[in-house]
Amino acid sequence: MTASRVDAQLRSEAERFELRFGCESCAHFAPETRACGNGYPTAPHVGVQLSRVESLLFCKEFELS
Ligand code: SF4
Repeated sequence: MTASRVDAQLRSEAERFELRFGCESCAHFAPETRACGNGYPTAPHVGVQLSRVESLLFCKEFELS
Protein backbone atom coordinates (compact mmCIF):
# COMPACT_ATOMS: atom_id res chain seq x y z
CA MET A 1 0.00 0.00 0.00
CA THR A 2 1.43 3.36 -1.01
CA ALA A 3 0.59 6.59 0.73
CA SER A 4 -0.25 9.66 -1.31
CA ARG A 5 1.48 12.87 -0.40
CA VAL A 6 -0.84 15.58 0.89
CA ASP A 7 0.31 18.98 -0.24
CA ALA A 8 -1.24 22.42 -0.62
CA GLN A 9 -2.57 21.61 -4.08
CA LEU A 10 -4.33 18.46 -2.91
CA ARG A 11 -5.79 20.28 0.09
CA SER A 12 -7.02 23.09 -2.13
CA GLU A 13 -8.53 20.82 -4.78
CA ALA A 14 -10.08 18.50 -2.17
CA GLU A 15 -11.89 21.46 -0.66
CA ARG A 16 -12.86 22.96 -4.00
CA PHE A 17 -14.29 19.72 -5.39
CA GLU A 18 -15.56 18.45 -2.01
CA LEU A 19 -13.48 15.30 -2.26
CA ARG A 20 -14.84 12.43 -0.21
CA PHE A 21 -12.48 9.58 0.55
CA GLY A 22 -12.94 8.52 4.17
CA CYS A 23 -14.86 5.60 5.58
CA GLU A 24 -17.48 8.04 6.88
CA SER A 25 -18.50 8.68 3.27
CA CYS A 26 -18.23 5.07 2.11
CA ALA A 27 -21.16 2.76 1.43
CA HIS A 28 -19.33 -0.09 3.20
CA PHE A 29 -18.93 1.73 6.51
CA ALA A 30 -21.15 0.80 9.45
CA PRO A 31 -21.30 3.93 11.64
CA GLU A 32 -22.80 2.08 14.61
CA THR A 33 -19.77 -0.19 14.91
CA ARG A 34 -17.31 2.07 13.05
CA ALA A 35 -16.31 -1.03 11.10
CA CYS A 36 -15.85 -1.80 7.44
CA GLY A 37 -18.41 -4.14 5.94
CA ASN A 38 -15.65 -5.63 3.79
CA GLY A 39 -13.53 -6.38 6.83
CA TYR A 40 -10.76 -3.91 6.12
CA PRO A 41 -9.04 -1.90 8.84
CA THR A 42 -10.60 1.54 9.00
CA ALA A 43 -7.97 3.34 11.07
CA PRO A 44 -6.09 4.79 8.09
CA HIS A 45 -9.30 6.19 6.57
CA VAL A 46 -11.44 7.44 9.46
CA GLY A 47 -11.47 11.00 10.66
CA VAL A 48 -8.69 12.13 8.37
CA GLN A 49 -8.29 15.89 8.26
CA LEU A 50 -6.22 16.86 5.27
CA SER A 51 -5.09 20.02 7.03
CA ARG A 52 -3.37 17.88 9.66
CA VAL A 53 -1.68 15.13 7.65
CA GLU A 54 1.25 14.98 5.27
CA SER A 55 0.22 11.71 3.63
CA LEU A 56 -2.90 9.68 3.09
CA LEU A 57 -3.77 6.08 2.32
CA PHE A 58 -6.68 5.99 -0.10
CA CYS A 59 -8.86 2.88 0.11
CA LYS A 60 -9.25 1.07 -3.18
CA GLU A 61 -12.63 -0.33 -2.10
CA PHE A 62 -14.12 3.09 -1.34
CA GLU A 63 -17.61 3.56 -2.74
CA LEU A 64 -19.38 6.84 -2.24
CA SER A 65 -22.51 6.38 -0.14
S1 SF4 B 1 -14.16 -0.12 1.92
FE1 SF4 B 1 -12.41 1.15 2.56
S2 SF4 B 1 -13.24 3.23 2.71
FE2 SF4 B 1 -14.97 1.80 2.70
S3 SF4 B 1 -15.42 1.40 4.87
FE3 SF4 B 1 -14.02 -0.19 4.14
S4 SF4 B 1 -11.98 0.54 4.68
FE4 SF4 B 1 -13.37 2.29 4.75
